[in-house]
Amino acid sequence: MAKAFTNAMTQLSQADKIAKFGKAIDQLKQPKKILSAQLKIKLDNGQTKAFKAFRVQHNDNRGPFKGGIRFHPQVSLDEVKALSFWMTIKTATVGIPMGGGKGGIIVDPKALSQAELERLSRAYIKAFYKNLGPKIDVPAPDVNTNSQIMDWMADEYSKLTGQPQPAVITGKSIKAGGSLGRDTATADGGFFILSDLIKQLKINPKKTRVAIQGFGNAGANMAKLVYKAGFIIVGLSDSKTAIVTTDKKGFRFSTVKKLKEKNGIIDGCDEMTEKNGTCLEHQHLSPEKIIETDCDILILAALENQVTTQNADQVKAKIILELANGPTTPQAETKLLKRSIIIIPDVLANAGGVTVSYFEWLQNIKGQKWSRAQVRQKLQPIMIKSFHRIQKIAKQYQIDLRTAAFISAIKLIIKK
Ligand code: NAD
Repeated sequence: MAKAFTNAMTQLSQADKIAKFGKAIDQLKQPKKILSAQLKIKLDNGQTKAFKAFRVQHNDNRGPFKGGIRFHPQVSLDEVKALSFWMTIKTATVGIPMGGGKGGIIVDPKALSQAELERLSRAYIKAFYKNLGPKIDVPAPDVNTNSQIMDWMADEYSKLTGQPQPAVITGKSIKAGGSLGRDTATADGGFFILSDLIKQLKINPKKTRVAIQGFGNAGANMAKLVYKAGFIIVGLSDSKTAIVTTDKKGFRFSTVKKLKEKNGIIDGCDEMTEKNGTCLEHQHLSPEKIIETDCDILILAALENQVTTQNADQVKAKIILELANGPTTPQAETKLLKRSIIIIPDVLANAGGVTVSYFEWLQNIKGQKWSRAQVRQKLQPIMIKSFHRIQKIAKQYQIDLRTAAFISAIKLIIKK
């Protein structure tokens, strides 16, 4: 399977084929700077262990590099490069004055204690802090990183630079200067777009079956929103399992959430519901089978390269919403588009996260605190206007939404 950065460059060249940007497009083919380090930390047992870490600064033509830090055993430089490129496109897609960057540490965070995780997070900042800053490069959470990790990182940066600098990192806890609404922003943004789309298509949520891959920050918050809006959740998955049901009511969000928190794995039926005789009939499948679930809307909220040429023909959904970054390979996308499946691309669908990260950065710089309602009120028009602009470009050139988003973004990014 092609690597993530190759896929990203295929997407770039597809946009270039239509819009013909000329030599200026070369600015986007490589990151401006690639930083890497071996982070050595003391384990609780007294031994020292080294972890490979990256920070890739793709483009800052429109503002500071911006993008999350991923902790994952399989994270690679290739993946981080692709993710940093998509951040450049994403920030421009929603018109926020920031660029694109991304970071990662090759680590299984579940194998570390909290104290070890803190030492590793602080070591990351020690290694890269000279290249970070509120006006230079502003990291954020991504897969397996959360507000606690962002707090440690912001604190370490402030210590090293000798003054409190909350605006250096977003996705912090509220007490450390985080923004209300950042925790749910990625799902909120995706949901605003999905709601607008189903209104355009005159689809009734109550008759619409949804499957969601991934039950972390993006996936679980999205599951909550679609459940509350009346959609029928027929499939959910995490890294260990997929659960599917043909029950007309679908999965109850609160049951699945409770079981995930209690047992670390998603399930549709707990002892209580079983005793009450209300256990929902469901099946457990291997996680990747979620892609093939019989549903109307498939929401991808796990990792990249999930819909590939191997399984694209088995996709039953008519709409795919990409909350994850790069979940559909370009070759799979070609197959899906031939079947008229609507794909809301990652650079738009999950841009709510970076938009509220930008709000957090603004609040830190201006010394303001916005309410959750204010954040949502500001986020919604950005998502909807960006979606409509991209739909218009797609219609104008008779192209798919991803290529349209890329064209719209690249016009703003490249310097002639
Ligand atoms: P997370 O760590 O909170 O959750 C990831 C989820 O994916 C977990 O439930 C995990 O079990 C699941 N998962 C991992 N491998 C899987 C597999 N093979 N099959 C099924 N599920 C699998 O991460 P997150 O923040 O929710 O990020 C998910 C995706 O959304 C990533 O691609 C990330 O880059 C993207 N994203 C997140 C944000 C954000 O604000 N959190 C913003 C933009 C994009």
